[in-house]
Amino acid sequence: MRISPELEWIRPFVELVSPKLPHIKLLDSIKSRRPKENCSENQTFHGQITKWYDGEKHLITLYTHYLKFTIKKNDNVEIEIKPYTTLDILKHLAHELAHLEHWDHNAFHWALENELGKVFAVKLALDGYTREEDELKEHGI
Ligand SMILES: [Zn+2]
Repeated sequence: MRISPELEWIRPFVELVSPKLPHIKLLDSIKSRRPKENCSENQTFHGQITKWYDGEKHLITLYTHYLKFTIKKNDNVEIEIKPYTTLDILKHLAHELAHLEHWDHNAFHWALENELGKVFAVKLALDGYTREEDELKEHGI
């Protein structure tokens, strides 16, 4: 499976939950995407799964950054590109991977998303991930 270099760190997480995802073989690639600061592209989702070749192949796109809008005095809007945290990205990954088995946003999809999220959480804890706040501080957020 191809994964964008910026998201290569998620590969062990995907491999860990693969046995829970019979349709993982349909997943061709996971691509990273960044919003554009000039807002030429409206960011309406954190992640997305798309099918092509009549559903034979699936592509997951995950945003690695988001736009932060701040309204300043005199109504000027400041736009900054901020990175998503590890937890954000893994939540979005669990959501999109769960679509491989349950295409609709139904209770089964939600349950699987949570199941994958729990596996990710255990791995994170074992890997020594401590606090999202530390990561935010590191990013200067
Ligand atoms: Zn969804």
